[in-house]
Formats: sequence, C-alpha cells, structure tokens
Amino acid sequence: MGYINIALDGPSGVGKSTIAKALAGRLGFTYIDTGAMYRTLAVYFLRCGINTDDEEAVCSVLSSCSIDTGYEDGQQQMYLNGENVTSLLRTEEVSRAASVTSQYKKVREKLLDIQRSMAAYRNAIMDGRDIGTVILPDAQLKVYVTARPEVRAKRRYDQLLMQGKLCGATLSSIEEDMRERDYRDSHRENAPLMKAEDAVLLDTSDLTEEEALEAIINMLKERKLI
Ligand code: C5P
Repeated sequence: MGYINIALDGPSGVGKSTIAKALAGRLGFTYIDTGAMYRTLAVYFLRCGINTDDEEAVCSVLSSCSIDTGYEDGQQQMYLNGENVTSLLRTEEVSRAASVTSQYKKVREKLLDIQRSMAAYRNAIMDGRDIGTVILPDAQLKVYVTARPEVRAKRRYDQLLMQGKLCGATLSSIEEDMRERDYRDSHRENAPLMKAEDAVLLDTSDLTEEEALEAIINMLKERKLI
C-alpha cells in the first residue's frame, strides 16, 4: 500500500497544528507544518530590512536564502541558511510578514516542491492553507478546519499569554490582526485559502482537542485508511 497523506487546511487559530501534532503522534505519521516555512522566509525578509509590502524587493532576495526542515524529538525544526530559527517564528511581527509575503507567486513557488517532496515518501499530516487544493490534491483525506472568529482569537491570545509572547497585544487587537490576515489569505490571487471540493468540514468551536481528534480518526476509519 502507498503512503497516506492527510491535508489539514483552514484559517489561523482553529487548532490545526494542535490537532495535526497529536494525530501524527498517535498514528506514527510525520507532521509537516507549512506555515512554519512561510514564517522562516518572513524572518529572512525582516532581517534583510526590506519592506515586505514590496513584492519585487522580497522576490529579489529569495535566491539568497535556503530553508531546510528537520526533526528533533519529533518536533519540526526550521533552518534558515543553516541556522535553527524555530524559536523566532511565533511573533506577531513574523505572523504579519508571513501573511503578506505568502501572497507572492515566487514565494509560494519556492516552497511548493519542498512541501510536495516531503509528503511523497512518508505517511504525513500536512497543515496549511492550500494543501488540499494545490500542494496535495490527491491526499487520501482532506479536512477543512474552521471555528468562530471569537473562539479563534481567544485561543491565540491564550497561547501567546502562556508563552509569554503577548508583547502588549490585547484580545481585540489579536482578533483584528487575525481578521486582516484571514482576509488576505482568502482573497489573494495565488493559492487562496479555501475548502477543497472534496474536503470534509470540521468546526472545532465547541469541540475539545480530543473530540476533534476523534472526529478525524473516525474519518480515517470510514475511509479504511487506518
Ligand atoms: O499557519 P501559520 O499561521 O503558521 O501560517 C503563517 C502564514 O503563512 C499564514 O497567515 C498564511 O498567510 C501563510 N501560509 C500560506 N499557505 C500555507 C501555510 C501558511 O499561505 N500552506
């Protein structure tokens, strides 16, 4: 039997990465976080001091950066020109820069092959925005995860608070930023965030992590994938 690929797409704060990580652990699959790749590129653009709204400037430095993905104790690590930058990826500044620069065609092209080849020879759960629609159109299971905006903002707020990374952000400023990023992700020209026709919709607003996990495990069982 071939390898199983699961595509998890949806806006930020719906619990995709939490669900994907837990599921990968339970099934012995590899978890591939594609948002971390866009974030790694964003760190590079910010370090270059370029205006991330300037597509030409961003694309002109693309060839001078290489990104690699590795795993340490099962956790995905991101390397930027050989340096492990994993701990730098989860700030609001990087979130915004990733959201802006992921609109650019050349930025997406740079990551497309990396993402496809990572899923080609392993059982993988990949999360992102365009996995079911563009990156892995033949994934055996596609799930489009949603949650009500206020629930998502609260989850993100709690996450930043717990990590000590709030940096003055409030619940309403986070909700506002999220709304802006989601709008950009779903209205961009290149690979916009949308549900693949054959994806199953999963609303996690009123589900615990365990319930969301169970729901996906049931989908896999129904399809006789596990
Ligand atoms: O998922 P995460 O919030 O880490 O992603 C950061 C940003 O990268 C998103 O706001 C989105 O703009 C972009 N992204 C994307 N396509 C993906 C994954 C992330 O455009 N497959």
